[in-house]
Amino acid sequence: MSDCIFCKIAKGEVPSELLLEKENLVAFRDLNPQAPTHILVIPKKHIVSLDQAEAEDRDLLGDLLLAVQEMAQRENLEMGYRVVLNIGTHGGQTVPHLHFHLLGGRSLQWPPG
Ligand code: AMP
Repeated sequence: MSDCIFCKIAKGEVPSELLLEKENLVAFRDLNPQAPTHILVIPKKHIVSLDQAEAEDRDLLGDLLLAVQEMAQRENLEMGYRVVLNIGTHGGQTVPHLHFHLLGGRSLQWPPG
């Protein structure tokens, strides 16, 4: 989508600290990190949120989760980490392009706010 910031990051039209690029996804550091490691993993395809994902996105969703795992291993998060998927207004989603947050490097509280 032409006015989507994450689409622009995926295409390299907006700068980011890009960590991983595959055929169908990219991973980059969050601009406003909430933990020592805070990485976003996004599909290149514009999907607004998990709510808009379809059966044809099954492989893509699996690839995104495996990319999260790959990034966690690269960041040496052996002590554990959290994967967050915010959906819609009540879910706290601010960017309407599906993204997994990978948070780690410190002990995280539960439940979230
Ligand atoms: P969410 O609130 O789940 O939609 O998460 C959106 C995340 O995107 C937030 O953690 C923001 O800090 C992050 N973010 C927004 N714009 C950028 C950007 N240009 N580069 C990196 N991270 C961004």
